[in-house]
Amino acid sequence: MTKFNRRSFLQLTGAAAVTGAAVMGAPSIARAAGKKVVIVGGGPAGATVANYLRMMDGSIDVTLIEADKNYFTCFMSNEVLGGKRSMDGIKQGYDALAKAGVKVVHDMVTGIDGAKKKVMTKGGQTFDYDRCVVAPGVDFKFEKYEGLDAQVAETKMPHAWKAGPQTALLRKQLEAMKDGDTFMLVAPPNPFRCPPGPYERVSLIANYFKKEKPNCKIVILDTKDKFSKKGLFEQAWKKFYGYGTDKSMITWMKGSDVGNITGVDADNMKVMTDFEEYSADVINFIPAQKAGPIAFAAGLTDDSGWCPVDKVTFESKKVPGVHVIGDAAIATKMPKSGYAANSQGKVTAAAIAASLNGKPVGVPSYVNTCYSIAADDWAFSVAAVYKYDKEKDIIAGVKGAGGLSPMDASAEDRKREVAYAHGWYDNICHDIWG
Ligand SMILES: Cc1cc2nc3c(=O)[nH]c(=O)nc-3n(C[C@H](O)[C@H](O)[C@H](O)COP(=O)(O)OP(=O)(O)OC[C@H]3O[C@@H](n4cnc5c(N)ncnc54)[C@H](O)[C@@H]3O)c2cc1C
Repeated sequence: MTKFNRRSFLQLTGAAAVTGAAVMGAPSIARAAGKKVVIVGGGPAGATVANYLRMMDGSIDVTLIEADKNYFTCFMSNEVLGGKRSMDGIKQGYDALAKAGVKVVHDMVTGIDGAKKKVMTKGGQTFDYDRCVVAPGVDFKFEKYEGLDAQVAETKMPHAWKAGPQTALLRKQLEAMKDGDTFMLVAPPNPFRCPPGPYERVSLIANYFKKEKPNCKIVILDTKDKFSKKGLFEQAWKKFYGYGTDKSMITWMKGSDVGNITGVDADNMKVMTDFEEYSADVINFIPAQKAGPIAFAAGLTDDSGWCPVDKVTFESKKVPGVHVIGDAAIATKMPKSGYAANSQGKVTAAAIAASLNGKPVGVPSYVNTCYSIAADDWAFSVAAVYKYDKEKDIIAGVKGAGGLSPMDASAEDRKREVAYAHGWYDNICHDIWG
């Protein structure tokens, strides 16, 4: 594999507009020498900043603080649930980042002092910074639902919306189901991590049931009346899982019929709504979401529970000198996805490198592609390029760039998209974690 260095990065971004002009305004080594950047969170957002800052200006001192020794990607975790991939197939580590000169620390950040420019950890360490990047991902609004908390999610009704032990638990529950049992997925309200994710999950679980337990049923209890790539998912469900017939394996219940989801009875495997009680043998309850806890502790959130940021540099609007990227940030039209987090990481690395070198920060562009796999040889995607719209102060989609897989694509095209999805996974993981 070709080693990716600063020169090739500049060539790539010049050609592919991944981070646009911001990169071109970046480093002239030396002024930033010894300047300290501390990054909180080693997911796609944080690890990308760490990796790209080192490539763009090796004189910057980069520390990445991540709570866990390994990272399990949510992307492709639905393949684990569908029995198509092992947990090792979604596991990433931090050795390559350390080799690239990133100081990797495994600890939990408990506080950030924006005035003194210090990051504090549970293990008692303190880190000074010139710039801090916070990329903690999401947390769950358990408090919205009676009877649901982190303990119930870890033992009985996993959300598996952070990949890791809960992914393994949910897979085990699916394996233990008897033919004829019912699986229920409770889909979260907007905004949430990975808009097509719940529907891809249902597809791959249906794919598993079809082969191993064809009399199992799947119920999606939704909080919404529409969802991402709905037409494409429903087309696939009709083709493979009898959707729309009385033999359908999948039943989708829309938000306006379901009403508010109010709580759970975990002992009796029930979900309660304004109108009804629903029971199932396995329940995958994906709660409403908000920014990760450290974003609240550091005063980075607003009333929405997410972090307002400058759309060009991702610097927090609440705490100067701190940048927030990835799922926790309010990136207007960009979805909360791993690819978006990776794109924001590059833009932020370029903005930090430029500003630490006393250079102007350019106007960035961003990119996102999201693949959904619905059966063994059947996938589709949505792609978009985004630019900062100064007038509206939003990150807006560029008209005519990107698009959705067509409804009338051939079976061959759908099969090719599965290969593209797997290729995308390998490439982006290499780009993020090295
Ligand atoms: C089922 C599913 C499928 C998905 N599929 C796709 C897909 O196909 N394509 C795609 O682009 N996206 C996909 N996503 C979305 C993607 O996983 C997220 O958008 C992405 O992980 C967000 O990255 P992040 O870095 O912001 O947060 P995270 O991935 O959550 O990373 C945050 C990291 O910060 C660490 N952390 C948090 N707080 C602290 C602290 N206080 N101290 C130290 N460390 C801390 C955490 O341990 C974690 O490692 C999917 C998501 C799900 C749930």
